[in-house]
Amino acid sequence: MANERMIFVPLGHVLRPFPALLAAVLLWTGCQTVPKPGTLAKRRGDEIVVAGNFVHTGTAVVLWMDPGGYDAYRVERRFSPIEQSSWATSKVEVAELTTPNRYGLRKAGLSTEEIERVRGGGWDLELLQQVVDQFVYHFDVAGTSRQCFKTLHDLRGLSVHFMLDLDGTIYQTLDVKERAWHATSSNDRGIGIEISNIGAYREGQDNPFAEWYKRGTNDMIFLTVPERFGNAGFRTNPFVLHPARPEAVFGTVQGEQLVQYDFTPQQYDALIHLTATLCKTFPKLKCDYPHDAEGRLITSKLPDDALKQYQGLLGHYHIQTNKVDPGPAFQWEAVVKGARKLMGLAENPERSGNARMQETFKVEKE
Ligand SMILES: [Zn+2]
Repeated sequence: MANERMIFVPLGHVLRPFPALLAAVLLWTGCQTVPKPGTLAKRRGDEIVVAGNFVHTGTAVVLWMDPGGYDAYRVERRFSPIEQSSWATSKVEVAELTTPNRYGLRKAGLSTEEIERVRGGGWDLELLQQVVDQFVYHFDVAGTSRQCFKTLHDLRGLSVHFMLDLDGTIYQTLDVKERAWHATSSNDRGIGIEISNIGAYREGQDNPFAEWYKRGTNDMIFLTVPERFGNAGFRTNPFVLHPARPEAVFGTVQGEQLVQYDFTPQQYDALIHLTATLCKTFPKLKCDYPHDAEGRLITSKLPDDALKQYQGLLGHYHIQTNKVDPGPAFQWEAVVKGARKLMGLAENPERSGNARMQETFKVEKE
C-alpha cells in the first residue's frame, strides 16, 4: 500500500484531468505491488531482528526461529535428553536454573507508563533507540556457539543477543529489544555478543590451547574442535580454520599479563558488519572503544561514573573487574576501523598510533 501512495502523489498531480487513466494506473500498480495471500516473504539470510524489524547486516545470520537456530525464548533445555528437557524437570536437575525465562524487560530510563506499554512486547524502534547505547563484546570460553548456547541456556540460566561462531556465522537468539543476561549493570542498555574462543590465560596457568590449536606442516596454526564435543554444529561445511594471527598473543587485561589465540578472520569480518549495523541502527551507540587521552585502548574496568556516561563499544572487562573478555588478542582497532568504513564514516585520526594492529589483521585476512 505504501508503494501505491508514493506513486499516487506525483502521478495524481499530472493525471488530475484524466480520472479514468488515473484509476487505471492505480489498478495496475496495485496489481504489481500487493503480494497474493500465501506468498512467502523473501529473506536474504543476513537480517537481524530489532524491535520486530528485519535489519540487513551484509553477513550470514541465523535467527532463533530459523532451522539450525538457537532460541533463547524456549523454557526447556535444548541439549538434554528430550524426556528430561521440560522446565519442570530442568529446574530440579540444574540448580542454576531458577526461572523459566532467561531474559527480562529493559527498564532503564523508561517512565512507569512506558514500562506498562512495552511489557508484553510492545517496543517500537524509536523508543528502543533511546535506551540502547552500549554493545558488549565477550569471548565464550566454550569454543563454539553450540557449546556456548548449551552453557548459557541449559546450565546457567543466562542469555545473550548474539553468538558468533568460529566460521563467522552469527546466531541471534532473541530480539534486541529484550534485556539479555550477560553483563550485569549494562544489561538494561546493552546488546551482547559471545564470540567463540577458548579464552585468555595467565602464564603458567593450565590452558586448553594444545587441544584447540595445532601447528601444521607450513608452520600455520590450525583451529580444531576437540572430538569429545561431537558435532561442532557449524552452519557451513567443515573447512580449515585458523586464528587471524599465527602466534599466541600476549597482553595485559585488568593489570594481568595474559595469553590468548586470536579470533578467526571470518569472525572479524562478521563482527565488523554487525557492529556497523548496530551503530547505524542505534544513534546513541558510538562506533568507538574506551580509550585514554592519547587514544590508547583502556584494558581494565571503567570507573563507575565513566561507565555510566559511556556510549559505545566495550568489552566485558570494561564492566566487571572479575572479567577479562574479549581478551588481549581482540583487535579493537580493526573492528572499529572496518565498521566505520562500512558506515561511511571518517577514520578517527587519534587512532593512527594503532595502525600496526590493523596491518596484522589485513595480512592474515588476505
Ligand atoms: Zn563475558
